[in-house]
Amino acid sequence: MSQHPALVEHVITREQIQTRVRELGAQISADYAGRQIKLTCVLKGGFIFLADLIREITIPCSIDFMVISSYGTGTQSSGVVRILKDLDGPIEDLDVIVVEDIVDSGLTLSYLLRNLKTRKPATLEVCSLLAKPARLENDVTCRYVGFEIPDTFVVGYGLDAAEQFRELPDIWSVDETKL
Ligand code: 5GP
Repeated sequence: MSQHPALVEHVITREQIQTRVRELGAQISADYAGRQIKLTCVLKGGFIFLADLIREITIPCSIDFMVISSYGTGTQSSGVVRILKDLDGPIEDLDVIVVEDIVDSGLTLSYLLRNLKTRKPATLEVCSLLAKPARLENDVTCRYVGFEIPDTFVVGYGLDAAEQFRELPDIWSVDETKL
């Protein structure tokens, strides 16, 4: 697409993403060697990351999807989360990795992990493409993080602003006044 005026600068390029996703896939494959994993993708933002990550994983894995909506004002989440689409199947006794696009305050993830833990998975970890450590408000731990980024709103590679820009291969910062 020709460059939208709201797109400010490349935060992470497609080449950097490709390299890092390859590393994450190799790390997960090594950590879970001899086991089978269930990748639980949080839609919509995580769909491109999941599609690339799964092709870098060399151990048996299955996928499932959740759609959640986080109540909040503007770009701030409140941690009050509604499940719009739940997992298709149980996760009891499975090695589960939640695949997320971005952990910002961590409130959404904290709610999600509490919910998934009640379903008694054997293990439960998180793989997030992006994290904003400056904004993290609680003690959620992501075992796998692609990139730590500053406190700036980003789009592309699955991440949107009002449903725009998910298709961009790179990750961009945006000027929200120009959306
Ligand atoms: P949290 O509950 O961690 O504050 O917010 C997590 C959710 O807010 C993410 O799953 C994502 O949907 C949204 N979000 C947080 N920061 C950004 C950002 O920089 N860009 C986009 N597109 N979404 C974000």
